[in-house]
Amino acid sequence: MSQASPSVIGFHYTLKDDQGQTLDSSAGGHPMLYLAGSGQILPALDTVLQSMAVGDKKSVTLSPNDGYGAVNPALKMNVKLGQFPDGTEVKPGLQFRINSEPNSPMFRVINVLGEEVFIDGNHPMAGKTLHFDVEVLETRAATDEELAHGHAHGAGGHHH
Ligand SMILES: [Zn+2]
Repeated sequence: MSQASPSVIGFHYTLKDDQGQTLDSSAGGHPMLYLAGSGQILPALDTVLQSMAVGDKKSVTLSPNDGYGAVNPALKMNVKLGQFPDGTEVKPGLQFRINSEPNSPMFRVINVLGEEVFIDGNHPMAGKTLHFDVEVLETRAATDEELAHGHAHGAGGHHH
């Protein structure tokens, strides 16, 4: 038996939270295209998709642990308006990094009250149970270039 070659999987998804609110969806656009096993998508979702055939549909529920992790209270904090660079329009939704290390968390401004700015460095989906409806539309062998890059190319995949 030869080892199956790594594959590229194209799928449509709709992601909802516990309240049934749609958080994200590929509907109406290109299917999401990714390189299986590469870490391009959540590993728990990757495992499910790899077990599916073209045309299969499935509902998948992921605990926060299999999703974006628990909320880290230490990443919720207050800073002063004066700590932002001059000219920054500080308002809810502003995203920024506190330092330039590649893995430093992306913070979001949650609220501004006078000189107090409430910020949160957790992933917006941290602590959430994720409900995915997925449909596999294509599977194919990965190209050498895709394997070298560690991601899928083409519509719905990575663009350079
Ligand atoms: Zn590439």
